[in-house]
Amino acid sequence: MKYPFNKPYLSGKELHYIEDAVSKGKISGNGHYTKKCQSYFESQYGFKKTLLTTSCTDALEMAAILLDIQPGDQVIVPSFTFVSTANAFVLHGAEVVFADSQSEHPNIDAAKIKGLITPKTKAIVVVHYAGVACDMDPIMELADAHGIFVVEDAAQAIASTYKGRYLGGIGHLGAFSFHETKNLQCGEGGLLTINDDRFLKRSEIIWEKGTNRSAFFRGEVDKYGWVDVGSSFLPSELNAAYLWAQLEQLDKIQQERKRIWRAYHDQLQSWADALGIKLPKLPDYAVNNAHMFYLVCQNQEQRAALISHLKNRDILAVFHYQSLHRSAFFKDLYHGEPLENSDLYTACLLRLPLYYGLDVDYIIQQVKQFDGIQ
Ligand SMILES: *Cc1c(COP(=O)(O)O)cnc(C)c1O
Repeated sequence: MKYPFNKPYLSGKELHYIEDAVSKGKISGNGHYTKKCQSYFESQYGFKKTLLTTSCTDALEMAAILLDIQPGDQVIVPSFTFVSTANAFVLHGAEVVFADSQSEHPNIDAAKIKGLITPKTKAIVVVHYAGVACDMDPIMELADAHGIFVVEDAAQAIASTYKGRYLGGIGHLGAFSFHETKNLQCGEGGLLTINDDRFLKRSEIIWEKGTNRSAFFRGEVDKYGWVDVGSSFLPSELNAAYLWAQLEQLDKIQQERKRIWRAYHDQLQSWADALGIKLPKLPDYAVNNAHMFYLVCQNQEQRAALISHLKNRDILAVFHYQSLHRSAFFKDLYHGEPLENSDLYTACLLRLPLYYGLDVDYIIQQVKQFDGIQ
């Protein structure tokens, strides 16, 4: 396809930094570039502590271990999300309780969370869909009132804010992704943010296979050993070096993505109105990090027609999540209320190509030739 849905950004310095990492002679994790990336996130976004991980999936699993998720615990998760948001907690025995999206936005409906809380609820996992903030104040208030934890799945939300506060820094824990489909990428990669003092010490032990190796490297203990559970969650220096080459260009990446997003938004409005198609809405409390530009079609047939219209013009537009409560894995386990909005986005949401260097004017022109009848 001439216009794919995504093209991973390359700054051109990735191989240079990888070569440097190799020449430094320390290629395993938690070295020079890992520390450079972590300090960047901590100083730039004010996160208390960050740990690079091999993926957002791994960062979410670290969160499950840190929260000591056990069989019998319930975790509230939106149904309209990626598998990992729920799977990380299911792996540790949690019962996932699915919540619906808002009617105006794919994000979790804060007003519907309260009715799902029980004495067994241990955590709420929110997903900032398309990098747009969930309504965090009522969610944090609810969590505090019930003594439960909030994890932000901020996989798509780099450099995005809620009422001026950086996403990933509001919940007790947060998880970012640097998968090649995200604004900032290193192929596969992620980041855990630790925003609550209670988790600071244990997080780096879990990260380093259950050992106190990080403390050993800092000279705080004279030998290291097995002190807790953990796994190998840290990426090699090669990934961190690659990521650093991207981090240096983050402002440039964001400017270009926002330009493309605004072009879509400004130029497609009247076309969309005429066909009953909705453009993304941004609540007042959120800013846009231009992770994604999506349309909400009137129905699944209209979406299929638009996909094939674009395919015929060498443009790949793709739908997104399938409600997790209806997945092959979960459908027989689900006994909750119908989740109408999650099902609506499953059937009607369509993502247009958005990547650095995209000829957005051409895509807009082709989209506008769709009159809904094809
Ligand atoms: C991309 C994504 C993930 C998974 O990220 P990986 O780094 O591939 O593990 C999880 N949740 C959401 C919402 C995502 O968009």
